[in-house]
Amino acid sequence: MHETCQTWVPAPALRRTSSWSAIRRTWRIGARPREFDLKFSRVVNEHMIGQMVHREFAAIYLSMVGVAFLTVCVAWEVGLAVVLPVVALRLASLVNNHRLCYKILEAISRQEDYSADLRFLTIGIGIAAGIWSLFIIVLGSVDHLSLGVVLACIALIVIYMLQVLLTSYYPPSMRAVLIGSSCAVTAPLLLAWGSNGPWLLVAFAILLTVMAVVASLLERQARWLVILQLRNKQVAERLTRANQTATEALSQAIWLASRDSLTGLLNRGTIARNFGKQPATPADVQRYVALIDLDHFKAINDRSGHLAGDQVLVRVSQILLAWEKLGTGRQVGRWGGEEFIATFECRSRVQAGLHGERLRRLIGQVSVSLDDGHDVEVTASIGLAQVSPLEGLEGALIRADEALYKAKETGRNRCQLAA
Ligand code: GH3
Ligand code: MG
Ligand code: MG
Repeated sequence: MHETCQTWVPAPALRRTSSWSAIRRTWRIGARPREFDLKFSRVVNEHMIGQMVHREFAAIYLSMVGVAFLTVCVAWEVGLAVVLPVVALRLASLVNNHRLCYKILEAISRQEDYSADLRFLTIGIGIAAGIWSLFIIVLGSVDHLSLGVVLACIALIVIYMLQVLLTSYYPPSMRAVLIGSSCAVTAPLLLAWGSNGPWLLVAFAILLTVMAVVASLLERQARWLVILQLRNKQVAERLTRANQTATEALSQAIWLASRDSLTGLLNRGTIARNFGKQPATPADVQRYVALIDLDHFKAINDRSGHLAGDQVLVRVSQILLAWEKLGTGRQVGRWGGEEFIATFECRSRVQAGLHGERLRRLIGQVSVSLDDGHDVEVTASIGLAQVSPLEGLEGALIRADEALYKAKETGRNRCQLAA
């Protein structure tokens, strides 16, 4: 029976607040609402029941205080023995209501049917309200108005009001409080007609009318509160989802903007930015940049097709990425076309040359098998230069480029270290 709030709760139209019948039509089950309204109404009603049961717990603990107070006031006048049966009855009804509240909450959390328990709880609430009035019958036996009697009457009125307030989330329970209290109080008041005239009855009728009006307003407020709470929850959920989507889209956009779409390697701009952000190296460690240009790549495209060329580029990228992961302070990227860039740290020119040689040999091992059975192989020429703190990456790139041209001029498939 319990239905989680899956349906969108429409924004409450402010115009509707002025029309009581419109609210009834839209949000009450049983008024032949449209399918959408029916679902919406169920969601709201079930939330109201949940809230009412939670409040009933509070009411039960408040009742304990009320019972203790009334017992003292009434026992003062008529003796403890007279009032004890009423107290015992009241406590029994509290225990029963407490048990039913637990059962309902458990059923709600397990999404089971709790309608029977809810009916019993409503009846129990009505009976509990009636039992309060037994205190009045006991008080009726006192033939003079003392402080105890006055305090007991005030306490009873406050208790009725509180019960109406606490059950305002669930109209049937609220009505049960009103009916239970009026049934039980009317009898002793009719009996007192002879001695006091109709005044007490009139006063009680006025009190009941005030309570009924307050109850109706409270219920409307409670319903609005639940609708707004549900709507807030849904808006918050939608915002969270939108936020997640935006965050994902942003990180995807950042990824795309920082990488080359074919190979997934960092692009030129990102490499330069990252390089600037790297922490300073120890005095005996130098940074080097390698410009890697695939040899006669145009011929691969011309011979085996552009797609085959792309496959070679992807394969070379994988080789470079694997190399990057093998050491700290390394970074590889696609500089553009069939050119790649690698930056790394080492302790000497000889070591830098060895790194360059290693890269050249790794690329030289690349072999891509095509669908037609042919294998495409590739070699690379590499220009290497040390990045000095004075000239920075840009200056080093100019020298690496010159070294690369030298490597091309002197036969390709070579690694040339800049002076
Ligand atoms: P060299 O040894 O002198 O470097 O000769 P090369 O053919 O490698 O150099 P060139 O600059 O003449 O040609 C580079 C070729 O790379 C031309 C271009 O079509 C190709 N190319 C650039 N980007 C891509 C790409 O993304 N995919 C493919 N398949 N080819 C590309
Ligand atoms: Mg080139
Ligand atoms: Mg080339």
